[in-house]
Amino acid sequence: MGLRDTWCLILKEGGDWLGALSDVIFPRICQVCGRALVKGEEVMCLDCMVGMPRTNFHISSSATPVTRMTAEAKIIRMACMFFYSKKSGYAAMLKKSKYNGHPEIDRTLGKRFATELMPSGFFDGVDLIVPVPMFRWKKLWRGFNQAEEIARGVSMVTGIPIAYNLEAVRPHSTQTKKSATERRSLSGSYFGVYAPDELKDKHILLVDDIVTTGGTVAACSQALRDAVPSVRISLLSLAHTAYT
Ligand SMILES: [Zn+2]
Repeated sequence: MGLRDTWCLILKEGGDWLGALSDVIFPRICQVCGRALVKGEEVMCLDCMVGMPRTNFHISSSATPVTRMTAEAKIIRMACMFFYSKKSGYAAMLKKSKYNGHPEIDRTLGKRFATELMPSGFFDGVDLIVPVPMFRWKKLWRGFNQAEEIARGVSMVTGIPIAYNLEAVRPHSTQTKKSATERRSLSGSYFGVYAPDELKDKHILLVDDIVTTGGTVAACSQALRDAVPSVRISLLSLAHTAYT
């Protein structure tokens, strides 16, 4: 093989060759079980994808979290990818994204979940995607907001634009460290709405990483409906805490 042919081969197969090399230097592992990923797998292995504890909320309108969010936050449609329990590998995956600086985990999961939801009509009529905002100092400290990364993944698949009209006007501490009563009482005044006219008569998809009691979602929904009475809101999250 001549030099020219070798170069052609490198250029043609370059992506795979470099990909394989980077897999040796930075091994790609399943973020749930730690096994090495094979070609075609992203973030998690096929076994962990199949074994994911799904909520299926988007097709079970009578599930308690769905009826609660419909009543408390006036949510029209709701989809959560999987159940969150603190000691599971799936929880570890979300923690790794958050605390070890891996926004690509959120983006990839957002893309994958949106791809699965597309045929169900879940996104029909949705005009804008609005990520649950993070207080600016917290975002500066962490470098990214997981909800925004998930929103990016969903937007890539659906083509629905992202609107950053919701703002965290003051910090709210981590929900999991509070009692259920404290979490429930999170008031709408934590969130403000920029340019409310842009959201007039729109159906927006609120996006968050984990829904626990729904306090944050209810507060966002309240702030949006206070500023824009004609707005309609649906919800998408990667995780929802297990419920009884
Ligand atoms: Zn795995």
